This record gives sequence, structure tokens and C-alpha cells, in this order.
Amino acid sequence: MKETVCLVSLGCPKNLVDSEVILGLLSEEGHFLTTDPSKGEVIIVNTCSFIKDASQEAIETILRLTPYKREGRCRLLIVSGCLPQRYGKILEKELPEVDLFVGTGSFHKIPHLITQKRKRKSFLSGQTFLYNDQTPRILSTPPSTAYLKIAEGCSRTCTFCTVPKIRGPYRSRRIPSILKEAKRLADQGARELTLIAQDTTAYGEDLRDGTSLEGLLKGLVRVEGLRWIRILYAYPSSARFTESLLELISREEKICPYLDLPIQHIDDQILRRMGRRSKGREIQDLIGKIRTFIPEIALRTSLIVGFPGENESQFNALLHFVEEAQFDHLGAFQYSPEEGTPAFRLSNPVPEEVKEERLRILMEAQKKISLKKYRRMVGRKAEVLVEGMDSERTVLRGRIQTQAPEIDGCVFLKGKARPGDWVKALITQALPYDLVGKIQRILP
Ligand code: SF4
Repeated sequence: MKETVCLVSLGCPKNLVDSEVILGLLSEEGHFLTTDPSKGEVIIVNTCSFIKDASQEAIETILRLTPYKREGRCRLLIVSGCLPQRYGKILEKELPEVDLFVGTGSFHKIPHLITQKRKRKSFLSGQTFLYNDQTPRILSTPPSTAYLKIAEGCSRTCTFCTVPKIRGPYRSRRIPSILKEAKRLADQGARELTLIAQDTTAYGEDLRDGTSLEGLLKGLVRVEGLRWIRILYAYPSSARFTESLLELISREEKICPYLDLPIQHIDDQILRRMGRRSKGREIQDLIGKIRTFIPEIALRTSLIVGFPGENESQFNALLHFVEEAQFDHLGAFQYSPEEGTPAFRLSNPVPEEVKEERLRILMEAQKKISLKKYRRMVGRKAEVLVEGMDSERTVLRGRIQTQAPEIDGCVFLKGKARPGDWVKALITQALPYDLVGKIQRILP
């Protein structure tokens, strides 16, 4: 029987790709897709559960959708992804309205599970399913941009992180498969590909055959039609950023001068307690090395404030580092103790109000840095990828090469263009996290 299915995707781009694969598999089986939950005979919530807030958001979303089962057309409510993988069968009791729980290792079986008679409610087998170029996928991002997942899982042992437990060890896709998918995406109209994995710089190591991020990038720049290739989630390890990799990023026009280095902290003691491999000095040296090879690079990072035992002077060291390093984009989070992680048992928790205050101070410092950097761009011309209207539907919005989709700011544009156009724009104004520009011409 063919069903009308509504899928709600939560969490990060890695989860979004899983959702796109679920949609592709459902469509291939002949099911109909809708974005309107009131029309869904089957509703799927593909969840994130990386931290407490994400689990909370997932549960709230599920509870918000359960009335459709009682009052609407919905006959099957499915919860997939990280939440069931992390919490297991306990959810069957906590969320009795849910008919099926499908973990990260089994989400590719959803089309089959929808139509079959099932004796159990939870399908939570081991490792996360890793798709390949043959796997159908329906993109949910604007047509000119797509994520490309190059690996799954993580083999690192960061003490605060639930990902290795939920998603299993690191597993890279093969280069030919990634290149075939990149070509298919480019043929469908994608001009920007954003490479994602839990750690993109570890790409290929598990294959033990010389496969590397550098080799993959060399193949990707030859894919016709692509204009921007962007690297997210690059673990800040100096050994991984070889000179030849940095030279390649610097030399190849298609590879965005952009790197996302989630460094988490700068204090050695905290880094050690976090289970991070790099020391503060190495991180600083790496940033210097990257900027020497690629002077125009835009750097993004993410940081955790209030890790257990973080004292005033360690936080001040982090703040001082942020002021010195001058990141282009920065995301900071209050430490959230996650059950099942080694850090959960650490002593000396930082009080919530102190965490909040540290986050506020850090983001205030970054706001000034971001504004200062954007002010330098006023009066310059930039190539902008137009993505559509802004949320108030008054002006167009787009991104320059150093703004990643969704996580960074954007350029608000005056003038006429269509989504997917590349335009030359004059930057006329800087806001703390966004730019304002005037379209001068549409680029070929
Ligand atoms: S590198 Fe560390 S923080 Fe990132 S996914 Fe792996 S274990 Fe988690």
C-alpha cells in the first residue's frame, strides 16, 4: 500500500542528509511525500540527540505531532535517528503514542517497515547506515546547494560527546562513490557542495589505502558545474592539515577559502579533560599555519564554556584567545552534561548562571569582531549566491563564499535576481553578523 508520508527533520546537516535519504527511499518505493503533517498518513520525526536541548526539542516535536494521530489522517508515527539510538527501548514506555522507533543503523529500512506487519516496536541495530551513490536521495536544501556526507561516525574519544556511541566508529565512503554522487548533484543543479562528516579531516584514514581528503578534493574540483566546495567540521589537528592540503585549498578557486575548526577550548587542562588531542599552543600554531598558506581564509569555530572545572582564569584565557584569533564565525555552547559520556562523572560542575554569563561575554566579544570584519567589506564587490527572499519577504538574501549555509550570516540584497542566480553585488552596509548589498549584475 502506498502512503502519504510527512517527514520532520531535526538537528544538524548530517541528520538532514539522513532525512533526504529516507525521503529518496520512500519516493522510490512509490510513497507520496508531503510537508503538511495534517495530510500525512505516516509521520516520521528524524531526531537529533547530541545534547540535552536537542533531545528536548525532539520530544517536544513528537508531542506536538501526536494529535495528528488521534485527530488526523495519521495511522503511523515513527521516530527515527539519534534519539531512539541513544535511549533505546525506554522510549517505548515514555512515548506510547509512537508506533515505531528506528535507530541510526536501520533508518534505510523505514519504507519496508511501513508496509510490513511488525512484531516489535524498536529497530535499533548497531552502526549507522552509510549511503552511497546508488542510494536515492531527495534534496531539501535550495536547489543550488547540497550537503555531501563523506563519512559517518567518529572514532575519537572526546569525553563530552555522545556521537561515537550513537553513530559508531568512523567509516569513510569511497572516493569514486562520492564523485559519482557529486556529479549527479551538479547535474541536478547544485553549484555549491558542502562536505560534512563528524570529522572531515579524518576522511580516508579508516580505509588504510591512501584515501585522503586531499585526494577527494582533487577529484571534486574536476566535477563540471560546481562553483563552490566547502569543508565543515575539520578537527584541528596539525598533522591532518598538511602543506599540500593547504596549498590545494589556496590554489583551487572552487574550494572556498573557508574552514570550520571546532576547537572547543584553548586551555590545556580543559582540553585534556575534554579528551581532545591538541594542546592550546598547537591550535594557535595551526591557525597561524592556515593563515600563512591561505591569507584570505575565513575561519569558523565552536567552543564550549563551563566545562566541569573551568575556572575564571581558564575562561579568561579562552576569551583572550578569541579576541586574538579573530574568527570570522563562532558558535559557543554552554556545557551540557550528557549521561553515558565520561565527562558526565567529572567533579566541579560550573553553576548554570556562571555558564550563561561566560557565554554572554564570549558572544559579545565575537559580535564586535564580526562587525569589525564585515565593516572592512563595505564598498567592496562580492560574488553572491542568491538563495531566495529573507524571512520577512522584503528583500533577497544570499551568501558570499565565506558564509556557509544555515550556520553563518547572509547578505541581504537590494535589486532583482532569482534564487540560484550568482550576482556581483556592492556591499553597502555591515550588520553584526550579516551584510547588506546592492546587486550590480547577474553573473553567467
Ligand atoms: S571529534 Fe569529538 S566532538 Fe566531534 S564527533 Fe567525534 S567525539 Fe564528538
